[in-house]
Amino acid sequence: MLADYYVEAKSRKEIRGLANLLRNKLGLQDVLWIPIVELLDILAETIEEFSYEVVPDNELANEIHAETDIVTGHIKIKESVYVRACDGEGRDRMTIAHEIGHFFMLCLCGFKLHRNYENNIIPAYKDPEWQAKCFAGEFMVGKHLINDMDIFEIANKCGVSLDAAGYQCAHND
Ligand SMILES: [Zn+2]
Repeated sequence: MLADYYVEAKSRKEIRGLANLLRNKLGLQDVLWIPIVELLDILAETIEEFSYEVVPDNELANEIHAETDIVTGHIKIKESVYVRACDGEGRDRMTIAHEIGHFFMLCLCGFKLHRNYENNIIPAYKDPEWQAKCFAGEFMVGKHLINDMDIFEIANKCGVSLDAAGYQCAHND
């Protein structure tokens, strides 16, 4: 959605710091299974700029699972995604974390968004989609909590897909 834009560069370490800051603020620093669905309501109650709604699947394009309006801070989540996230499906839980990542980095922290007028190739660390993906992974899988776990344990205990567990293992330096 945001491919026409770029943001200031942020490293995985910086984004991990932001994810951990949010974990701490929410009292979730030592929690393996982030209650991401419940968190939507908590954020809506505590942060004035944050709001979300569950919309009928046909309201968003096929390939879109959820989206964040970075001007209003409003997140729309497809009903099917929300229902599966409630059931603990890792991929859908991650989708919600991804949008919360957009909200925090673009709406709340105000990472500056620049229009990519020249259609330059944007390096990953300046791409808001990469940054949101990075945030979601770091937020859902606390690096400080997974020590010697294998990817099956991580997927189970953190409530993420095997793919995501593997990805976090490979990017935990
Ligand atoms: Zn996104």
